[in-house]
Amino acid sequence: MIYDAMIIGGGASGLIAACALALRGRRVVLLEKQERVGRKLLSTGNGRCNLTHLNATAGDYHGARAAARAALKAWPPERVVAFFGETLGVPCVPDGEGRVYPMSRQAASVLDALRLRCDELGVDTRTGFRVTGLSRKGGAFEAASDGGERASARCALVCTGGLAAPKLGASGEGYRLLEGFGHAISPRFPAIAALRTPPKDVRGLKGIRAQVLLTLLVEGEIAREEYGEALFAESGVSGIAAMQLARPANEALREGRRCAVALDFLPDGDARALLRQRAEQLPLRAMEDFLNGIVPRRLGQTVVAAAGLSPRLAAGALAEGQLARLAEVLTGWVLPVTGTQDFDQAQVTAGGASLKDFDIRRMASLRAPGLFAAGEVLDVDGDCGGFNLQWAWSSALMAADGIDKLLEGDAL
Ligand SMILES: Cc1cc2nc3c(=O)[nH]c(=O)nc-3n(C[C@H](O)[C@H](O)[C@H](O)COP(=O)(O)OP(=O)(O)OC[C@H]3O[C@@H](n4cnc5c(N)ncnc54)[C@H](O)[C@@H]3O)c2cc1C
Repeated sequence: MIYDAMIIGGGASGLIAACALALRGRRVVLLEKQERVGRKLLSTGNGRCNLTHLNATAGDYHGARAAARAALKAWPPERVVAFFGETLGVPCVPDGEGRVYPMSRQAASVLDALRLRCDELGVDTRTGFRVTGLSRKGGAFEAASDGGERASARCALVCTGGLAAPKLGASGEGYRLLEGFGHAISPRFPAIAALRTPPKDVRGLKGIRAQVLLTLLVEGEIAREEYGEALFAESGVSGIAAMQLARPANEALREGRRCAVALDFLPDGDARALLRQRAEQLPLRAMEDFLNGIVPRRLGQTVVAAAGLSPRLAAGALAEGQLARLAEVLTGWVLPVTGTQDFDQAQVTAGGASLKDFDIRRMASLRAPGLFAAGEVLDVDGDCGGFNLQWAWSSALMAADGIDKLLEGDAL
């Protein structure tokens, strides 16, 4: 049987495109290499699935921003939310910041809605089908699996995702399928991942959390700032704020530029005045306990050590220069950034299939008529906050619109 459309990859983008096409009566085959579709979706938003962001703009994206802008125009967050509510039966609710979640606050309900809707609409879902070859024969695309299975369709949509989180299905096959049709793939590197710093600098801080303003410095210049909770790890800094800095850090490090992160634990206060007042109030307090209450104890001790002060020094004996140095470290503790976590731990892939080879109004290949791509396999990545799923949904829904139009015109 020759289907109208084959969708390669049953993740966020593949599932929603399958629903959208089947809703229009198209015969769709969905090919997923894992035994279950949508496994990554279950892990999103800490199991709650932050499925979009109401205030998304092109500025929240990196890589081919023009494509992100086009997708936001065609399928803005409100339209995606309406699709989830009205077509998939998943009412959504925003939090105070504009991040949108399913009303159930369960990622599993998003996956179930997509999966069940595909079944109800007659999508032929074939799991355990790892597409290793894609070719064009006559008027149809033929996909071949490593197990010797085949599937044919008039249009093909590549939704194989990126390289992040390989345990959840990510692999590089989609890039190779597109390369086979002459598509260029830009270099890929982890985005949204913890920052690596020299272990000796953060030794003993593992598991400690603190509210902090993080500034990424590239060759000493401010590249990006993020405020939020930092979580110290054995060899670096994690937490959403730190993870947001991974992309610009990796970009700079790949170009051989020096990177560092400055941590400000008192971004809103006058640190010097606060410490002076504290020293007067608690003159007998040893430095090792002096910052208790401002930051977690072990972190306070590390800051004191980084300022070159003896842990036994009494606050009352602090010289003005020492106090100034302590304030300086408390508001600008600089750690060299040596890299980020790799794809195993990263949430998103920067880079991918170049959008120069696509008509970004419908995510249609300019190399092979009838070929489309959507989601993370393309060279667009977003910040943390629902932007990556928004891109997956909107680019896939655009591709589905494009496929539908192409089939309607029977221009193949
Ligand atoms: C832990 C974690 C949490 C996240 N949380 C959020 C969040 O809350 N909000 C947000 O916006 N984004 C989040 N993201 C990012 C988001 O999940 C992805 O950007 C999004 O899933 C990408 O969708 P996709 O369809 O392009 O790829 P995927 O969802 O990765 O789907 C690709 C699918 O293709 C299949 N596949 C690959 N190769 C083949 C092949 N050769 N043949 C057949 N099938 C194949 C894979 O098995 C997979 O099922 C998170 C990511 C991670 C890892």
